[in-house]
Amino acid sequence: MKLYGAHDVIRAFSAELRKGRLAYAECNTCSQKYLPPRAICAICGSTSFGIRELENRTGVIVAKTSVYYPPARFSKESGYVIAVVEFEKGLKFMARLRENNGKACKVGDRARLVIVSELPDVYLEAG
Ligand SMILES: [Zn+2]
Repeated sequence: MKLYGAHDVIRAFSAELRKGRLAYAECNTCSQKYLPPRAICAICGSTSFGIRELENRTGVIVAKTSVYYPPARFSKESGYVIAVVEFEKGLKFMARLRENNGKACKVGDRARLVIVSELPDVYLEAG
């Protein structure tokens, strides 16, 4: 499926999340992959993308930090942890991280992306 421009790509990404699937965008010109999707390819400038499903939602934590001044939506969760996880194909995604029973995890640990039914919420679960 060919998609053009930010609205189509983001709409397709959101639709896949609603179905419980994590999707990434692949440039139809140079095959560069993006997670989350982008409106314009940073490599070749194309605005034409395809949407593909990322089937393995488990990856490796490559960075993490705590957020003490969160956006209003997460104000009651101040001090929460966010992490960047690298999945297959070198795709990286950042989301809130739920650590194992309060036990801190570290860069290099594995984490799985969980899609919550109250979209557009997603989080990473360590372990
Ligand atoms: Zn491209």
